[in-house]
Amino acid sequence: MGTRFNIVDWRWLAAFTDAEGSIVLAKNFEKRPSQINVRWYQSENQIELLWAIKDFLDEKGISNYWYANESNTNFRATALVWTLGVSGVASCQVVLKGIRPFLISEKKIERADKALEVFNGYKGRVYTKASKCRKGHDMTKPKNIYTRPSGARQCRVCMQEVERNRKRDRRKVAI
Ligand SMILES: [Zn+2]
Repeated sequence: MGTRFNIVDWRWLAAFTDAEGSIVLAKNFEKRPSQINVRWYQSENQIELLWAIKDFLDEKGISNYWYANESNTNFRATALVWTLGVSGVASCQVVLKGIRPFLISEKKIERADKALEVFNGYKGRVYTKASKCRKGHDMTKPKNIYTRPSGARQCRVCMQEVERNRKRDRRKVAI
């Protein structure tokens, strides 16, 4: 493959989203923000554009993406259409914040704003949901909370415990 030139920045991605993308707000997205995702489509002969977007997402530390291909329903062309999608609260939030200032399509601006509103509210709700983990550790203290990229909360004390046990077991094996 030839050299990859990086044409993608937030402005470019916003224009691409306006033209060849969608911001999907699936059923119950207001209660389940994981139902929100961002997708870009491209026919197989132009798939390089999706790779370029993927490289850009990598640069931004976004790892929660996926690919799909399907025979065409939206276009008349017979070429296979590829989809690059981003899922997960944290990843979608970064993408939508990045493209929002440059979006032109009113429909997409409206969707981006709805999604960002849900994400903002979601953080607060999740944070105060459970005051204790299953083992009874205090989860009102931010230092005890690890937030996964999906937005789900995890008890840091339990995580550390698991890590300690794993190290101990490894030592046993080594002996
Ligand atoms: Zn715990």
